[in-house]
Amino acid sequence: MDCIFCKIVEGELSSYCIYEDELFKVILDAYPSSVGHTLILTKKHYENVYELPAEEAAALMPLAVKISAKLKDALGCDGLNVLQNNGKVAGQVINHYHMHLIPRYNNDGIVMKWSMEKPAEESFQKVMEKLGR
Ligand code: ZN
Repeated sequence: MDCIFCKIVEGELSSYCIYEDELFKVILDAYPSSVGHTLILTKKHYENVYELPAEEAAALMPLAVKISAKLKDALGCDGLNVLQNNGKVAGQVINHYHMHLIPRYNNDGIVMKWSMEKPAEESFQKVMEKLGR
């Protein structure tokens, strides 16, 4: 399979690996949004969150917490985004599951834009109906 992250996991491509265990390899992003931008890769090839097995999912968050604390302590960042993209429309570029840990610094200029407008109540009710709630 021609997957860049599989090649990184297998060591065919080099990376700045900051942690590794049986399930995950944690590397510095080659195209960082900020200083210390880190990726947690699953060692097995899963395309996205929908394919992620329970074992990996259960182990992922404790690891994300541990690495986040490490980044905060080591880099002295002022904040940190935990980000995980699924599908092209959501900004996923490499179709191998990965979680972004993006250290944030005061005045780093990174913009993540959310609408601050509150929709009509019917809009929430429709979503709740679709979710069977
Ligand atoms: Zn892969």
